[in-house]
Amino acid sequence: MNESMAATARIIDGRAVAAALRAETAARVAALPFTPGLAVVLVGDDAASQVYVRSKDRAATTMGIAARTIRLPATTSQAELLTVVRGLNDDACVDGILVQLPLPGHIATAAVLDAIDPAKDVDGLTPTNAGLLAAGRRGLVPCTPLGVMKLLAAAGVALAGARALVLGRSVLVGRPLAALLTAADATVTLAHSRTRDLAGECRRAEVLVAAVGRAEMVRGDWVARDAVVIDVGINRTASGTLVGDVAHGEVAGHAGAITPVPGGVGPMTIACLLENTLTAALTRRG
Ligand code: NDP
Repeated sequence: MNESMAATARIIDGRAVAAALRAETAARVAALPFTPGLAVVLVGDDAASQVYVRSKDRAATTMGIAARTIRLPATTSQAELLTVVRGLNDDACVDGILVQLPLPGHIATAAVLDAIDPAKDVDGLTPTNAGLLAAGRRGLVPCTPLGVMKLLAAAGVALAGARALVLGRSVLVGRPLAALLTAADATVTLAHSRTRDLAGECRRAEVLVAAVGRAEMVRGDWVARDAVVIDVGINRTASGTLVGDVAHGEVAGHAGAITPVPGGVGPMTIACLLENTLTAALTRRG
């Protein structure tokens, strides 16, 4: 084996960074004269959503945040869901509202997001918060992109002037992340399913974030030597293991740094949700 093949990427430990953020948020919550409240709305019985909601509830409770999950049947009408959301908007004990996505097909997701009070929108998905981010101003920022930025900061990655590529342009991850990286002075390419020469675009990136939802799509020869690679993907293989959107084994041989799956971006998402709940509580309650 020659020297270049022996190089191994530094692993960016999302669990450790998330634990530090949670500890910091818990300490700030403990110092408050009130208890911040988080309401999670779950419609239907999607198995993955049930798991996410349980872990959000547990994490919030352990940090001194009053968490409540409102479980509604899959047959809930859009009008009924809007009534629940408006009730939470008016509830003074609730600082953060999160409607777990995806919603059943008969409910228009946009109509529900539009109904959430932007001041309580801890998922950062209302048009108001998305618009503020696009305008280079900060409201509440979606948790996963926020988590990616915190991982890059914790890993000491210099973003100003860096060539960054975000693979995936979803409203939840890719688009807000591109806006955050732009605000951090990176030169950003937002790639998607219609991008020509995707591998070539990826190879030019010094910072590569994959949020595409395709198991191990980013191969070793798509990644420049010493690039920083953040793998947002969570994909379950036929054998039941979790893999990211990046072929970790191939890329870790020559990248500068890489996040693992699991244990990378995932833990940051929940930690950022709790931080957003605290931010919303502080802003709302002055
Ligand atoms: P979406 O399905 O909403 O978006 C996927 C994006 O990838 C789209 O922009 C799509 O392009 C693009 N894409 C799909 N196939 C290709 C392809 N073959 N070539 C190039 N681009 C492609 O996914 P999300 O953004 O919601 O999630 C992405 C991944 O991140 C998933 O694995 C998800 O599980 C994971 N995730 C992880 C979280 C965490 O906490 N770690 C939180 C949220 C998501 P186009 O727009 O052209 O269709």
